[in-house]
Amino acid sequence: MEFDTIAAISTPMGEGAIAIVRLSGDEAIQIADKLFKSIGGKRLAEVATHTIHYGHLVDPKSGQVVEEVMVSVMKGPKTFTKEDVVEINCHGGIVSVNRVLQHVLTNGARLAEPGEFTKRAFLNGRIDLSQAEAVMDLIRAKTDRAMNVALGQMDGRLSKLIRKLRQEILEILAHVEVNIDYPEYDDVEEMTHKMLDEKAHFVREEINKLLQTSQQGKILREGLSTAIVGRPNVGKSSLLNSLVQENKAIVTDIPGTTRDVIEEYVNVRGVPLRLLDTAGIRETEDIVERIGVERSRQVLKEADLILLVLNYSDQLTDEDENLFKVVEGMDTIVIVNKTDLPQHIDMARVRELAMEHKVVTTSLLEDRGVDELEEAIASLFFAGSIETGDMTYVSNSRHIALLHQSLHAIEEALEGVEMGTPIDIIQIDLTRTWELLGEIIGDSVHESLIDQLFAQFCLGK
Ligand code: GDP
Ligand code: ZN
Repeated sequence: MEFDTIAAISTPMGEGAIAIVRLSGDEAIQIADKLFKSIGGKRLAEVATHTIHYGHLVDPKSGQVVEEVMVSVMKGPKTFTKEDVVEINCHGGIVSVNRVLQHVLTNGARLAEPGEFTKRAFLNGRIDLSQAEAVMDLIRAKTDRAMNVALGQMDGRLSKLIRKLRQEILEILAHVEVNIDYPEYDDVEEMTHKMLDEKAHFVREEINKLLQTSQQGKILREGLSTAIVGRPNVGKSSLLNSLVQENKAIVTDIPGTTRDVIEEYVNVRGVPLRLLDTAGIRETEDIVERIGVERSRQVLKEADLILLVLNYSDQLTDEDENLFKVVEGMDTIVIVNKTDLPQHIDMARVRELAMEHKVVTTSLLEDRGVDELEEAIASLFFAGSIETGDMTYVSNSRHIALLHQSLHAIEEALEGVEMGTPIDIIQIDLTRTWELLGEIIGDSVHESLIDQLFAQFCLGK
Protein backbone atom coordinates (compact mmCIF):
# COMPACT_ATOMS: atom_id res chain seq x y z
CA MET A 1 0.00 0.00 0.00
CA GLU A 2 1.36 3.38 -0.89
CA PHE A 3 -1.09 5.41 1.17
CA ASP A 4 0.15 8.24 3.32
CA THR A 5 -0.63 8.27 7.01
CA ILE A 6 -3.92 9.85 7.99
CA ALA A 7 -5.21 10.97 11.34
CA ALA A 8 -8.47 12.19 12.82
CA ILE A 9 -10.37 12.46 16.03
CA SER A 10 -12.36 9.25 16.07
CA THR A 11 -14.59 9.82 19.06
CA PRO A 12 -17.58 12.10 18.87
CA MET A 13 -16.82 15.68 19.75
CA GLY A 14 -18.11 16.78 23.09
CA GLU A 15 -17.70 16.22 26.74
CA GLY A 16 -16.76 12.55 26.78
CA ALA A 17 -14.19 11.48 29.36
CA ILE A 18 -11.87 9.93 26.78
CA ALA A 19 -11.16 11.13 23.28
CA ILE A 20 -9.24 9.21 20.67
CA VAL A 21 -6.98 10.40 17.92
CA ARG A 22 -6.54 7.63 15.40
CA LEU A 23 -3.70 7.29 12.94
CA SER A 24 -3.55 4.88 10.04
CA GLY A 25 -0.81 4.24 7.53
CA ASP A 26 2.75 3.03 7.10
CA GLU A 27 4.16 5.76 9.28
CA ALA A 28 1.54 5.67 12.01
CA ILE A 29 3.80 4.02 14.56
CA GLN A 30 6.83 6.09 13.58
CA ILE A 31 4.88 9.33 13.94
CA ALA A 32 3.48 8.27 17.31
CA ASP A 33 6.99 7.38 18.46
CA LYS A 34 8.16 10.92 17.75
CA LEU A 35 5.59 12.20 20.21
CA PHE A 36 5.13 9.49 22.81
CA LYS A 37 7.28 8.85 25.85
CA SER A 38 6.18 5.72 27.64
CA ILE A 39 6.67 5.42 31.38
CA GLY A 40 8.93 2.39 30.98
CA GLY A 41 10.89 4.04 28.18
CA LYS A 42 9.85 1.52 25.52
CA ARG A 43 9.49 2.65 21.94
CA LEU A 44 6.22 1.86 20.19
CA ALA A 45 8.12 0.36 17.27
CA GLU A 46 9.30 -2.38 19.63
CA VAL A 47 6.03 -3.30 21.33
CA ALA A 48 3.83 -6.22 20.42
CA THR A 49 0.84 -5.59 18.21
CA HIS A 50 -2.53 -4.95 19.79
CA THR A 51 -1.12 -3.64 23.05
CA ILE A 52 -1.82 -0.48 24.98
CA HIS A 53 0.75 1.77 26.67
CA TYR A 54 0.65 4.49 29.23
CA GLY A 55 2.81 7.61 29.04
CA HIS A 56 3.03 11.20 27.91
CA LEU A 57 2.75 13.03 24.69
CA VAL A 58 5.78 15.29 24.46
CA ASP A 59 6.33 18.08 21.96
CA PRO A 60 9.54 16.99 20.20
CA LYS A 61 10.61 20.60 19.59
CA SER A 62 10.26 21.99 23.08
CA GLY A 63 10.45 18.76 25.01
CA GLN A 64 7.38 19.82 26.96
CA VAL A 65 4.70 17.39 28.07
CA VAL A 66 1.48 18.02 26.14
CA GLU A 67 -0.88 15.41 27.53
CA GLU A 68 -1.12 12.29 29.60
CA VAL A 69 -2.13 9.53 27.19
CA MET A 70 -2.75 5.84 26.60
CA VAL A 71 -1.57 4.63 23.23
CA SER A 72 -2.81 1.49 21.46
CA VAL A 73 -0.62 -0.02 18.79
CA MET A 74 -2.24 -2.26 16.18
CA LYS A 75 -0.10 -3.48 13.33
CA GLY A 76 -1.63 -4.26 9.96
CA PRO A 77 -3.14 -6.20 8.39
CA LYS A 78 -5.36 -7.17 11.32
CA THR A 79 -6.77 -3.70 11.70
CA PHE A 80 -9.81 -1.88 10.44
CA THR A 81 -7.87 -0.28 7.65
CA LYS A 82 -5.50 -3.21 7.15
CA GLU A 83 -2.74 -0.68 7.78
CA ASP A 84 -0.77 0.04 10.93
CA VAL A 85 -3.11 1.84 13.31
CA VAL A 86 -2.28 3.83 16.42
CA GLU A 87 -4.91 5.19 18.74
CA ILE A 88 -4.00 7.90 21.17
CA ASN A 89 -6.48 8.05 24.03
CA CYS A 90 -6.42 11.29 25.91
CA HIS A 91 -8.54 13.05 28.49
CA GLY A 92 -11.60 14.45 26.86
CA GLY A 93 -12.32 17.96 25.97
CA ILE A 94 -12.07 19.54 22.60
CA VAL A 95 -9.01 21.57 23.49
CA SER A 96 -6.81 18.69 24.57
CA VAL A 97 -7.84 16.30 21.81
CA ASN A 98 -7.27 18.99 19.23
CA ARG A 99 -3.85 19.67 20.67
CA VAL A 100 -2.93 16.01 20.29
CA LEU A 101 -4.26 15.99 16.73
CA GLN A 102 -2.25 19.11 15.90
CA HIS A 103 0.96 17.49 17.09
CA VAL A 104 0.24 14.38 15.10
CA LEU A 105 -0.41 16.47 12.00
CA THR A 106 2.73 18.56 12.34
CA ASN A 107 4.75 15.39 12.72
CA GLY A 108 3.89 13.76 9.43
CA ALA A 109 0.25 12.69 9.38
CA ARG A 110 -2.41 14.18 7.16
CA LEU A 111 -5.89 15.03 8.41
CA ALA A 112 -8.26 12.29 7.25
CA GLU A 113 -11.24 13.13 5.12
CA PRO A 114 -14.66 12.01 6.34
CA GLY A 115 -14.97 8.28 5.82
CA GLU A 116 -11.38 7.91 4.77
CA PHE A 117 -10.53 5.25 7.32
CA THR A 118 -13.29 3.15 5.88
CA LYS A 119 -12.13 3.77 2.37
CA ARG A 120 -8.66 2.67 3.35
CA ALA A 121 -9.91 -0.76 4.15
CA PHE A 122 -10.86 -1.32 0.56
CA LEU A 123 -8.95 0.88 -1.76
CA ASN A 124 -5.62 0.62 -3.39
CA GLY A 125 -5.88 3.14 -6.12
CA ARG A 126 -7.40 6.35 -7.18
CA ILE A 127 -11.15 6.43 -7.54
CA ASP A 128 -13.73 9.02 -8.37
CA LEU A 129 -16.58 10.07 -6.17
CA SER A 130 -19.16 7.59 -7.38
CA GLN A 131 -16.66 4.83 -6.84
CA ALA A 132 -15.88 6.06 -3.36
CA GLU A 133 -19.56 5.98 -2.62
CA ALA A 134 -19.73 2.50 -4.01
CA VAL A 135 -17.29 1.53 -1.31
CA MET A 136 -19.70 2.83 1.26
CA ASP A 137 -22.49 0.91 -0.43
CA LEU A 138 -20.29 -2.13 -0.44
CA ILE A 139 -19.96 -1.90 3.29
CA ARG A 140 -23.70 -1.82 3.57
CA ALA A 141 -24.34 -4.28 0.77
CA LYS A 142 -26.80 -6.84 1.99
CA THR A 143 -26.29 -9.60 -0.52
CA ASP A 144 -23.92 -10.83 -3.17
CA ARG A 145 -25.97 -9.17 -5.84
CA ALA A 146 -25.94 -5.84 -4.10
CA MET A 147 -22.24 -6.38 -3.67
CA ASN A 148 -21.86 -6.90 -7.40
CA VAL A 149 -23.69 -3.70 -8.16
CA ALA A 150 -21.40 -1.84 -5.82
CA LEU A 151 -18.37 -3.57 -7.27
CA GLY A 152 -19.49 -2.70 -10.77
CA GLN A 153 -19.83 0.89 -9.76
CA MET A 154 -16.48 0.80 -8.09
CA ASP A 155 -14.86 -0.39 -11.23
CA GLY A 156 -16.28 2.60 -12.89
CA ARG A 157 -19.28 1.50 -14.94
CA LEU A 158 -21.51 4.35 -13.84
CA SER A 159 -18.65 6.80 -14.19
CA LYS A 160 -18.04 5.70 -17.76
CA LEU A 161 -21.68 6.15 -18.67
CA ILE A 162 -21.85 9.57 -17.09
CA ARG A 163 -18.67 10.62 -18.88
CA LYS A 164 -20.15 9.51 -22.19
CA LEU A 165 -23.27 11.59 -21.57
CA ARG A 166 -21.26 14.62 -20.59
CA GLN A 167 -19.22 14.22 -23.75
CA GLU A 168 -22.43 14.30 -25.78
CA ILE A 169 -23.47 17.49 -24.07
CA LEU A 170 -20.06 19.04 -24.66
CA GLU A 171 -20.46 18.33 -28.36
CA ILE A 172 -23.83 20.00 -28.38
CA LEU A 173 -22.39 22.97 -26.56
CA ALA A 174 -19.53 23.16 -29.01
CA HIS A 175 -22.02 23.49 -31.86
CA VAL A 176 -23.95 26.08 -29.93
CA GLU A 177 -20.73 28.05 -29.53
CA VAL A 178 -20.22 28.00 -33.27
CA ASN A 179 -23.71 29.26 -33.72
CA ILE A 180 -23.21 32.09 -31.28
CA ASP A 181 -19.89 33.00 -32.86
CA TYR A 182 -21.17 32.97 -36.41
CA PRO A 183 -24.85 33.91 -36.19
CA GLU A 184 -24.79 35.22 -39.77
CA TYR A 185 -24.81 31.69 -41.19
CA ASP A 186 -28.47 30.70 -41.40
CA ASP A 187 -27.80 27.05 -42.03
CA VAL A 188 -25.72 26.85 -38.89
CA GLU A 189 -28.71 27.95 -36.89
CA GLU A 190 -30.94 25.42 -38.56
CA MET A 191 -28.40 22.65 -38.19
CA THR A 192 -27.90 23.53 -34.57
CA HIS A 193 -31.57 23.27 -33.77
CA LYS A 194 -31.87 19.93 -35.47
CA MET A 195 -28.78 18.58 -33.81
CA LEU A 196 -29.79 19.97 -30.45
CA ASP A 197 -33.11 18.26 -30.68
CA GLU A 198 -31.60 14.93 -31.59
CA LYS A 199 -28.78 14.89 -29.09
CA ALA A 200 -30.78 16.32 -26.21
CA HIS A 201 -33.37 13.60 -26.78
CA PHE A 202 -30.63 11.02 -26.65
CA VAL A 203 -29.27 12.41 -23.40
CA ARG A 204 -32.73 12.50 -21.89
CA GLU A 205 -33.33 8.88 -22.85
CA GLU A 206 -30.08 7.77 -21.28
CA ILE A 207 -30.78 9.61 -18.03
CA ASN A 208 -34.24 8.08 -18.00
CA LYS A 209 -32.81 4.62 -18.42
CA LEU A 210 -30.45 5.13 -15.52
CA LEU A 211 -33.27 6.37 -13.36
CA GLN A 212 -35.31 3.32 -14.22
CA THR A 213 -32.63 1.13 -12.76
CA SER A 214 -32.62 3.11 -9.56
CA GLN A 215 -35.61 1.41 -8.01
CA GLN A 216 -33.99 -1.97 -8.30
CA GLY A 217 -30.69 -0.52 -7.23
CA LYS A 218 -32.27 0.89 -4.12
CA ILE A 219 -33.85 -2.44 -3.33
CA LEU A 220 -30.52 -4.17 -3.63
CA ARG A 221 -28.92 -1.70 -1.32
CA GLU A 222 -31.60 -1.26 1.26
CA GLY A 223 -33.48 -4.50 1.08
CA LEU A 224 -36.98 -5.17 -0.03
CA SER A 225 -39.40 -4.13 2.64
CA THR A 226 -41.57 -7.15 3.08
CA ALA A 227 -44.86 -7.51 4.89
CA ILE A 228 -46.38 -10.84 5.80
CA VAL A 229 -50.15 -10.57 5.97
CA GLY A 230 -52.91 -13.02 6.73
CA ARG A 231 -55.55 -14.04 9.20
CA PRO A 232 -54.56 -15.21 12.67
CA ASN A 233 -53.09 -18.71 12.79
CA VAL A 234 -52.46 -19.19 9.07
CA GLY A 235 -48.71 -19.46 9.69
CA LYS A 236 -47.25 -15.95 9.35
CA SER A 237 -44.84 -16.30 12.23
CA SER A 238 -43.85 -19.75 11.02
CA LEU A 239 -43.12 -18.27 7.62
CA LEU A 240 -41.03 -15.55 9.13
CA ASN A 241 -39.06 -18.05 11.17
CA SER A 242 -38.59 -20.32 8.22
CA LEU A 243 -37.25 -17.48 6.08
CA VAL A 244 -34.92 -16.33 8.81
CA GLN A 245 -33.62 -19.80 9.61
CA GLU A 246 -33.02 -20.92 6.07
CA ASN A 247 -31.44 -17.71 4.96
CA LYS A 248 -28.94 -16.85 7.58
CA ALA A 249 -28.57 -13.26 6.71
CA ILE A 250 -26.28 -11.58 4.80
CA VAL A 251 -22.80 -12.54 5.12
CA THR A 252 -20.32 -9.82 4.92
CA ASP A 253 -17.13 -10.11 6.84
CA ILE A 254 -16.42 -6.54 5.98
CA PRO A 255 -15.48 -4.50 9.00
CA GLY A 256 -17.85 -1.74 9.83
CA THR A 257 -21.04 -3.61 9.12
CA THR A 258 -23.34 -3.10 12.00
CA ARG A 259 -24.69 -6.33 13.31
CA ASP A 260 -28.05 -5.22 14.55
CA VAL A 261 -28.84 -3.74 11.18
CA ILE A 262 -27.92 -6.95 9.43
CA GLU A 263 -30.10 -9.09 11.60
CA GLU A 264 -33.25 -7.55 10.27
CA TYR A 265 -32.42 -8.90 6.88
CA VAL A 266 -32.72 -12.23 5.23
CA ASN A 267 -31.13 -13.05 1.94
CA VAL A 268 -33.43 -15.02 -0.31
CA ARG A 269 -31.43 -16.09 -3.35
CA GLY A 270 -29.75 -12.76 -3.59
CA VAL A 271 -32.84 -10.74 -2.83
CA PRO A 272 -32.40 -8.91 0.44
CA LEU A 273 -35.66 -8.89 2.35
CA ARG A 274 -36.19 -6.42 5.11
CA LEU A 275 -38.95 -7.95 7.15
CA LEU A 276 -40.88 -4.97 8.36
CA ASP A 277 -40.80 -4.61 12.05
CA THR A 278 -43.58 -2.12 12.41
CA ALA A 279 -46.31 -3.52 14.57
CA GLY A 280 -49.34 -4.09 12.46
CA ILE A 281 -47.32 -4.68 9.35
CA ARG A 282 -45.25 -7.70 10.06
CA GLU A 283 -48.24 -9.24 11.73
CA THR A 284 -51.45 -7.88 10.41
CA GLU A 285 -53.79 -10.17 12.19
CA ASP A 286 -57.24 -8.68 12.04
CA ILE A 287 -55.88 -5.54 10.52
CA VAL A 288 -58.46 -5.35 7.76
CA GLU A 289 -61.26 -6.06 10.15
CA ARG A 290 -59.99 -3.45 12.51
CA ILE A 291 -59.25 -0.60 10.19
CA GLY A 292 -60.78 -1.44 6.84
CA VAL A 293 -59.46 -2.03 3.36
CA GLU A 294 -58.44 1.53 2.54
CA ARG A 295 -56.55 2.19 5.76
CA SER A 296 -54.87 -1.20 5.46
CA ARG A 297 -53.66 -0.23 2.01
CA GLN A 298 -52.17 2.90 3.52
CA VAL A 299 -50.36 0.88 6.16
CA LEU A 300 -48.96 -1.51 3.58
CA LYS A 301 -48.12 1.18 1.06
CA GLU A 302 -44.47 1.27 2.08
CA ALA A 303 -43.97 -2.42 1.47
CA ASP A 304 -42.16 -3.52 -1.70
CA LEU A 305 -43.31 -7.09 -1.34
CA ILE A 306 -46.36 -8.64 0.27
CA LEU A 307 -46.51 -12.24 1.32
CA LEU A 308 -50.20 -13.05 1.66
CA VAL A 309 -50.75 -16.22 3.65
CA LEU A 310 -53.91 -18.38 3.51
CA ASN A 311 -54.88 -21.59 5.27
CA TYR A 312 -55.18 -24.61 2.96
CA SER A 313 -57.16 -26.43 5.56
CA ASP A 314 -59.76 -23.75 6.06
CA GLN A 315 -62.39 -22.16 3.87
CA LEU A 316 -61.76 -18.71 2.48
CA THR A 317 -63.27 -16.05 4.70
CA ASP A 318 -64.38 -12.50 4.00
CA GLU A 319 -61.19 -11.31 5.60
CA ASP A 320 -59.13 -13.40 3.16
CA GLU A 321 -61.08 -11.93 0.26
CA ASN A 322 -60.58 -8.42 1.63
CA LEU A 323 -56.85 -8.99 1.87
CA PHE A 324 -56.76 -9.56 -1.89
CA LYS A 325 -58.36 -6.16 -2.34
CA VAL A 326 -55.82 -4.61 -0.01
CA VAL A 327 -52.85 -5.94 -1.97
CA GLU A 328 -54.24 -5.16 -5.40
CA GLY A 329 -51.55 -3.70 -7.60
CA MET A 330 -48.74 -4.52 -5.17
CA ASP A 331 -46.00 -7.07 -5.72
CA THR A 332 -47.57 -9.98 -3.94
CA ILE A 333 -47.01 -13.68 -3.58
CA VAL A 334 -49.93 -15.74 -2.34
CA ILE A 335 -48.95 -18.56 -0.01
CA VAL A 336 -51.43 -21.31 0.73
CA ASN A 337 -50.05 -22.95 3.86
CA LYS A 338 -50.74 -26.15 5.80
CA THR A 339 -50.96 -28.50 2.82
CA ASP A 340 -50.20 -31.34 5.22
CA LEU A 341 -53.74 -30.99 6.55
CA PRO A 342 -56.96 -31.91 4.74
CA GLN A 343 -57.96 -29.42 2.03
CA HIS A 344 -60.89 -27.13 2.73
CA ILE A 345 -59.85 -24.17 0.65
CA ASP A 346 -61.22 -23.58 -2.86
CA MET A 347 -58.01 -23.35 -4.90
CA ALA A 348 -59.83 -22.29 -8.04
CA ARG A 349 -61.22 -19.33 -6.16
CA VAL A 350 -57.76 -18.55 -4.76
CA ARG A 351 -56.31 -18.42 -8.26
CA GLU A 352 -59.18 -16.27 -9.41
CA LEU A 353 -58.61 -13.81 -6.58
CA ALA A 354 -54.86 -13.93 -7.04
CA MET A 355 -55.12 -12.84 -10.67
CA GLU A 356 -51.60 -12.04 -11.83
CA HIS A 357 -49.99 -12.85 -8.47
CA LYS A 358 -48.08 -16.07 -8.12
CA VAL A 359 -49.63 -18.73 -5.89
CA VAL A 360 -47.37 -21.10 -3.93
CA THR A 361 -48.49 -23.92 -1.67
CA THR A 362 -46.49 -24.75 1.43
CA SER A 363 -46.41 -26.83 4.51
CA LEU A 364 -44.21 -24.87 6.81
CA LEU A 365 -44.64 -27.58 9.41
CA GLU A 366 -43.09 -30.16 7.09
CA ASP A 367 -40.82 -27.65 5.44
CA ARG A 368 -42.37 -28.12 2.02
CA GLY A 369 -42.83 -25.53 -0.70
CA VAL A 370 -40.35 -23.09 0.77
CA ASP A 371 -38.01 -23.59 -2.20
CA GLU A 372 -40.78 -22.67 -4.61
CA LEU A 373 -41.59 -19.63 -2.54
CA GLU A 374 -38.00 -18.49 -2.62
CA GLU A 375 -37.88 -19.09 -6.34
CA ALA A 376 -41.00 -16.97 -6.75
CA ILE A 377 -39.49 -14.13 -4.73
CA ALA A 378 -36.28 -14.23 -6.72
CA SER A 379 -37.97 -14.33 -10.10
CA LEU A 380 -40.30 -11.50 -9.15
CA PHE A 381 -37.34 -9.20 -8.67
CA PHE A 382 -34.71 -10.58 -10.92
CA ALA A 383 -36.69 -11.36 -14.00
CA GLY A 384 -34.40 -10.64 -16.88
CA SER A 385 -31.41 -8.50 -17.16
CA ILE A 386 -29.90 -8.40 -13.73
CA GLU A 387 -28.57 -11.91 -14.20
CA THR A 388 -26.41 -10.77 -17.07
CA GLY A 389 -24.52 -8.64 -14.62
CA ASP A 390 -23.30 -6.02 -17.04
CA MET A 391 -25.97 -3.45 -16.47
CA THR A 392 -25.40 -0.33 -14.51
CA TYR A 393 -27.63 0.12 -11.52
CA VAL A 394 -27.95 3.42 -9.81
CA SER A 395 -28.52 2.82 -6.15
CA ASN A 396 -27.00 5.78 -4.39
CA SER A 397 -29.59 8.32 -3.33
CA ARG A 398 -27.34 11.28 -4.07
CA HIS A 399 -26.83 9.98 -7.60
CA ILE A 400 -30.55 9.48 -8.02
CA ALA A 401 -31.26 13.02 -6.87
CA LEU A 402 -28.67 14.42 -9.26
CA LEU A 403 -30.03 12.34 -12.12
CA HIS A 404 -33.50 13.72 -11.44
CA GLN A 405 -32.13 17.24 -11.52
CA SER A 406 -30.21 16.52 -14.72
CA LEU A 407 -33.33 15.13 -16.28
CA HIS A 408 -35.19 18.26 -15.36
CA ALA A 409 -32.48 20.46 -16.83
CA ILE A 410 -32.30 18.56 -20.11
CA GLU A 411 -36.08 18.68 -20.37
CA GLU A 412 -35.95 22.45 -19.98
CA ALA A 413 -33.41 22.54 -22.78
CA LEU A 414 -35.63 20.38 -24.99
CA GLU A 415 -38.59 22.58 -24.26
CA GLY A 416 -36.50 25.56 -25.31
CA VAL A 417 -35.58 23.85 -28.54
CA GLU A 418 -39.21 23.14 -29.30
CA MET A 419 -40.30 26.69 -28.54
CA GLY A 420 -37.51 28.18 -30.62
CA THR A 421 -35.93 29.87 -27.60
CA PRO A 422 -32.68 31.69 -28.44
CA ILE A 423 -29.85 29.26 -28.38
CA ASP A 424 -27.78 31.03 -25.77
CA ILE A 425 -30.66 30.51 -23.34
CA ILE A 426 -30.81 26.82 -24.15
CA GLN A 427 -27.10 26.75 -23.59
CA ILE A 428 -27.67 27.59 -19.95
CA ASP A 429 -29.83 24.50 -19.41
CA LEU A 430 -27.39 22.32 -21.25
CA THR A 431 -24.51 23.62 -19.18
CA ARG A 432 -26.52 22.95 -16.07
CA THR A 433 -27.17 19.36 -17.17
CA TRP A 434 -23.47 18.94 -17.82
CA GLU A 435 -22.60 20.28 -14.39
CA LEU A 436 -25.17 18.18 -12.56
CA LEU A 437 -23.96 15.00 -14.20
CA GLY A 438 -20.44 16.05 -13.30
CA GLU A 439 -21.38 16.22 -9.66
CA ILE A 440 -22.21 12.53 -9.75
CA ILE A 441 -18.64 11.61 -10.52
CA GLY A 442 -17.25 14.45 -8.45
CA ASP A 443 -15.82 16.51 -11.25
CA SER A 444 -15.46 20.02 -10.04
CA VAL A 445 -18.40 22.13 -11.02
CA HIS A 446 -16.06 25.07 -10.99
CA GLU A 447 -13.72 23.93 -13.68
CA SER A 448 -14.12 26.10 -16.65
CA LEU A 449 -16.52 24.69 -19.16
CA ILE A 450 -15.14 26.91 -21.85
CA ASP A 451 -11.61 25.70 -21.17
CA GLN A 452 -12.80 22.18 -21.68
CA LEU A 453 -14.62 23.09 -24.81
CA PHE A 454 -11.53 24.59 -26.30
CA ALA A 455 -9.31 21.79 -25.16
CA GLN A 456 -11.60 19.33 -26.85
CA PHE A 457 -12.65 21.07 -29.98
CA CYS A 458 -10.18 23.82 -30.68
CA LEU A 459 -13.07 25.87 -31.96
CA GLY A 460 -12.33 27.89 -35.00
CA LYS A 461 -8.66 28.12 -34.22
P1 GDP B 1 -49.78 -16.78 12.63
O1 GDP B 1 -50.78 -16.53 13.69
O2 GDP B 1 -50.33 -16.48 11.30
O3 GDP B 1 -48.49 -16.10 12.88
O4 GDP B 1 -49.51 -18.34 12.61
P2 GDP B 1 -48.36 -19.15 13.33
O5 GDP B 1 -47.16 -19.16 12.50
O6 GDP B 1 -48.22 -18.64 14.72
O7 GDP B 1 -48.97 -20.60 13.28
C1 GDP B 1 -50.19 -20.93 13.88
C2 GDP B 1 -50.21 -22.40 14.17
O8 GDP B 1 -50.20 -23.13 12.94
C3 GDP B 1 -49.00 -22.87 14.94
O9 GDP B 1 -49.41 -23.84 15.85
C4 GDP B 1 -48.12 -23.50 13.88
O10 GDP B 1 -47.30 -24.51 14.37
C5 GDP B 1 -49.15 -24.05 12.92
N1 GDP B 1 -48.65 -24.19 11.55
C6 GDP B 1 -47.92 -23.30 10.85
N2 GDP B 1 -47.67 -23.78 9.62
C7 GDP B 1 -48.24 -25.01 9.56
C8 GDP B 1 -48.34 -26.02 8.52
O11 GDP B 1 -47.83 -25.88 7.41
N3 GDP B 1 -49.05 -27.14 8.83
C9 GDP B 1 -49.62 -27.32 10.04
N4 GDP B 1 -50.29 -28.44 10.25
N5 GDP B 1 -49.54 -26.40 11.02
C10 GDP B 1 -48.86 -25.25 10.78
ZN1 ZN C 1 -48.14 -14.94 14.66
